[in-house]
This record gives sequence, structure tokens and C-alpha cells, in this order.
Amino acid sequence: MEDERKACAPSDRKVMVIGAGVAGVAAANALIDLGVRVVLVERSDSSTLLRSTPKGEGIMVLTGSRAIGAEMGDAFHIEVESVRGRCRQRAVHQVDAVILATGLVPTDASLIPEFGMGRHRNVVSQQQLGAMLASTREITRPSDGGPLSTVVFIQCVGSRVEKRGVPYCSAVCCAGAIEQAIKLKQRDPKIGVYILYIDIRMAAKGQEAMYKMARQLDVKFIRGQPALVAIKPKTEQLLVCGENTLLRELYEIPADLVVLGLGLREDPENLELFHRLGVELDREGLIEASDMPPTSVMTSAKGVFVAGSASAPMGVAEAEAMGIQAAHSASAYLRSRT
Ligand SMILES: Cc1cc2nc3c(=O)[nH]c(=O)nc-3n(C[C@H](O)[C@H](O)[C@H](O)COP(=O)(O)OP(=O)(O)OC[C@H]3O[C@@H](n4cnc5c(N)ncnc54)[C@H](O)[C@@H]3O)c2cc1C
Repeated sequence: MEDERKACAPSDRKVMVIGAGVAGVAAANALIDLGVRVVLVERSDSSTLLRSTPKGEGIMVLTGSRAIGAEMGDAFHIEVESVRGRCRQRAVHQVDAVILATGLVPTDASLIPEFGMGRHRNVVSQQQLGAMLASTREITRPSDGGPLSTVVFIQCVGSRVEKRGVPYCSAVCCAGAIEQAIKLKQRDPKIGVYILYIDIRMAAKGQEAMYKMARQLDVKFIRGQPALVAIKPKTEQLLVCGENTLLRELYEIPADLVVLGLGLREDPENLELFHRLGVELDREGLIEASDMPPTSVMTSAKGVFVAGSASAPMGVAEAEAMGIQAAHSASAYLRSRT
């Protein structure tokens, strides 16, 4: 790595990293170590993100800023829109390579109206429950602050489908639901927790133990996605109705909170940027890249690399490793052009 660093530095070559999640931050840190200057652009301006973004010489961090457009010639000219209070400004940054670490966003739950998201306040996404669990406050029914006696997780909502979502497995929702179920049980063992699944996909290290722990804590697993989430008239309680496809029995579960494991897809707001950069998508709508490292970080556009879940759903450790890989590939690309 030292040789790679010397070969690159001193350099006025600059890489724009778009997205400051785990992959983007790992890529930016690795680029700085390699002696490459970085512009890190992140549309969110949350304080948690600000704490984790790299600082120091050789890096410009733009938070509250979204990469929206690009023009290419000898270099990349990336248009970035920044929002400061009521003020919206646009600037063009010239860089020599780009790393897309833009992540994925949940599929649109309104496409699956039978699960009631947006209609019933007690139907939330895994991401929303994650925010509730991150706080030390007691978790209650969103509609009226009432106590939770039963929570139902519905998996594969808008994923592994041909219509109304994405065709691939979103990879992180089974582990996400089980982890959240365990946290709910640890907070209050009396809460009834159900996970309604198609298959449980948990192959990563430590995940089988997590699954066993959930079973020991009496989390109930039922195979079969429900047909409907209804609301019991004149109450705040939901009724989850479906068929247990292992036992071939119909079920109706009264629930205070229903949590949807929504599929993950590329952010539609980024598609124009990808197009302007010459980055193609594959048949499943994800950024086209090989599935074998090290070429898995290379997109169809020269000088544009992809890192983390922007390429496909993945866990944190994999996203971080891919960020570092993308930094090394971008640095090698810059050296090949000097
Ligand atoms: C419900 C759920 C549960 C999960 N549970 C687990 C788990 O238990 N274990 C695990 O390992 N992983 C889990 N994950 C996966 C984990 O969140 C991802 O691995 C990780 O977030 C991927 O990091 P990333 O940097 O690739 O993307 P992200 O973390 O999504 O970061 C992408 C960043 O890019 C920014 N961005 C996007 N477009 C632009 C733009 N045009 N301009 C500027 N900024 C932009 C976004 O604001 C965002 O901050 C879970 C994910 C979900 C959704």
C-alpha cells in the first residue's frame, strides 16, 4: 500500500465520493490514506453522519448536498445542489474519478395497499421501527401512544416479486427483523412477536445464533405472507390475516404494530445522475457491475466506480470492504492516466 501511496502522491487528482454511508466513508478514508484528494458529497445533514465523516487536509466534505448532474470530457464535472436553510445553491465540481456510494432506498409501500402503510398509523417500516428502537423511550402504538402487546413483522414486502417491487432478495431484512424482534423481547418479554416470512435467509456469520436466540425468546415464525392487514372497527388494533403455508391453516393475528420489511431499490432520484455519468443498470434495475471482486466495483463508465449497497443489497461489513476496494481501484485508475 505504501508503494501505491507514493506512486499517487503528491497529486492534484481528485475523486468525488457520492454518499457518506459506511461505504462512502470507508472509500474516502482509504483515498486519503492513498494520498488522493477527495470531495465527499452527502445529501443528508444529520448530526450522526457529520460525526462519522472524515475530516482534515485533502478532503472537502459537503453535507446537505446532493449530486444531481454530470458532464464528461477529460474530467468529470459534477453538479451539486446544496441546501442551507432556505437557500438552495448549485456548484460544479471538477474531479478525475467518481465513486457512487449512494445506497438503496425502500420500495414504495403504497404499491402494496393491502398492508395498509400510509393508511394505518400503526403500520411502519423496519427503518421506522429502527429509529424508535434507537431511542431510550418506551415504544408505544404510534396512533395513540397505547401499550404494545403484539407486534407483527411482514417480510419480503415489495421484494422477490415481478410486479409492485423488485425481483431480487433485499438480503438484509431477515436479519434486520430478527434483530429488532430480539430487542423488543429484551425490552419487554411479555410482548408477543410474530415474523411472517417466505423463507428466512440468514447465511452470514453469527446470524444462525441470532435466529436461535429469537426462537428461545419465543418469537413466533409463521411461513406465508399475509393477504391483508385490516383495522378492527372502532379500535386502534390491526388484524393480520393470511395462511400458514406449512400447516395449511388460516391465521388472524390482532396486532398493535405491524412492521414491513420493504424491498430495497436504487433511488429513482439518482437515475438521471447515473444516466448522465454513462452508468448502466442491469436487468434488475441495479448498477451494472461484475459479481466478482475486484471488478465488482467497476461500472460500465470509465472512471466511475460503485461501492456498497448501491451495487446490490448487502450488510455493513461488506459495504465497508467494497468502499475500500473502490478507493484502491479509483486510485489505480488515476495512476494509469498520469
Ligand atoms: C431495514 C434494514 C435493516 C438492516 N439491517 C442490517 C443488519 O442487521 N446488519 C447489517 O450488516 N446490515 C443491515 N442493513 C444494511 C445496512 O444498512 C447497509 O449495509 C449499509 O447501510 C450500506 O451502506 P452504504 O454506504 O452502501 O449505503 P447507505 O448507508 O444507504 O448510504 C448511502 C448514502 O448516500 C447518500 N446519497 C444517496 N444519493 C445521494 C446523492 N445523489 N448525493 C449525495 N448523497 C447521496 C444517502 O443520503 C446515504 O447517506 C439493513 C438495512 C436496512 C434497510
